Amino acid sequence: MTNFLRLGVTEEDQALADAVAKFAQAEIAPRAQELDEQEASVTCHVPKLAELGVMGLNLPEELGGPGVTPTAMLLALVEISKACAATSSMIGAHFLGTDAILLGGNAEQHKTWLPRAASGEWLAGFALTEPRGGSHPADLRTCAVREGDHYRIDGVKHFISNAAEAKFLVVFAKTDMAAGPRGVSAFIVDRATQGISVSRPEKLMGIRGAHAFEVSFEGVKVPLDCLLGTEGSGFKTAMKVLDNSRLDVAATSLGIAEAALAAAVQWARDRQIAGEALATKQGIQWMLADMKLRIEAAWGLTLQATALRTAGQPFTQQSAMAKLYASEMVAFVTDTALQIHGGYGYTREMPLERYARDARILRIYEGSSEIQRTIIARSVLG
Ligand SMILES: Cc1cc2nc3c(=O)[nH]c(=O)nc-3n(C[C@H](O)[C@H](O)[C@H](O)COP(=O)(O)OP(=O)(O)OC[C@H]3O[C@@H](n4cnc5c(N)ncnc54)[C@H](O)[C@@H]3O)c2cc1C
Repeated sequence: MTNFLRLGVTEEDQALADAVAKFAQAEIAPRAQELDEQEASVTCHVPKLAELGVMGLNLPEELGGPGVTPTAMLLALVEISKACAATSSMIGAHFLGTDAILLGGNAEQHKTWLPRAASGEWLAGFALTEPRGGSHPADLRTCAVREGDHYRIDGVKHFISNAAEAKFLVVFAKTDMAAGPRGVSAFIVDRATQGISVSRPEKLMGIRGAHAFEVSFEGVKVPLDCLLGTEGSGFKTAMKVLDNSRLDVAATSLGIAEAALAAAVQWARDRQIAGEALATKQGIQWMLADMKLRIEAAWGLTLQATALRTAGQPFTQQSAMAKLYASEMVAFVTDTALQIHGGYGYTREMPLERYARDARILRIYEGSSEIQRTIIARSVLG
């Protein structure tokens, strides 16, 4: 639990974070290592997370969410990530799906799909990436063709989180193959629709409890009222959703890093080397100082981007900077924390190796580090 308020964090934001922290440490953290070892799905936590309001953190009260600020949501995700990054990753994928409907959909679609997602009854997913490359998402091969009273979707999506457990996926497909980004449309697709098949979960290096799948669509008929926005508006919706979700990735980075630093501090105090605590060595102290410094810098960038989001101002560049810096920061922090633990850190008896494995995905999904640099450079160059 954090016992001081960070810049821009209100007492209400902190109260929610403290409640989530209490739950995460009591119920999620004790199972994190076991679920990782067994590669078992962290969706087992969904009912209790939903009771706390977590599954609808991105939604307003009228759609079943707790109606909290983006800052409160950030802090809550940090607390969950301290306990189990796979759990925050599963929640992040759910927010990708529900945010797409919130930002791209109409009032009827909001009412139909979002309250039951907030209540935890329905899990969501977001199907953008395809096997031929996730870094250039306008270049899709999945197509949606209008046929009378429905669209027919054909194609293959890759690495789709939550796909097996989800009630619905927001699927991005080309309605005009020749039109580039303007040819991309988004559809709400009920997972039970005929023609959808889902692979076994991918064998992942980290976040092993957050399952990702290949999903095939063969002649999948989707009612016309499941189109989000208008034909061709899907790419814009996806980019808006990713601006938000990159802050979720920054939150996960911060949570893992805070947990790794706390473990390293404890170890440095307790571990005796030739009769002296490791913490008395200046080399170790400087490692801890560098970890703390980078964590605080990542907090600064992330809170700044969140403040712009709250104010309704553009925050694409700031969100990319927060995601990029925080995900690279956590690689350094988890590696250094493992180093401070010596051989013990390398064993699976301790969570350090899991932190390092879980952190690795954060530089890849929701746009890799290279893509974040491209976004920032584009913005700097105007
Ligand atoms: C566990 C997991 C969960 C995921 N969940 C989802 C999900 O729920 N929904 C979803 O849609 N996707 C999901 N993804 C996909 C993820 O977003 C993509 O893996 C990611 O965007 C990278 O795409 P790619 O893997 O196809 O790599 P590629 O696009 O093939 O890129 C390979 C490498 O080339 C680099 N590269 C590519 N283009 C450039 C360039 N122009 N300049 C410099 N370098 C470049 C990349 O940075 C990367 O290092 C998930 C992936 C994983 C592993």
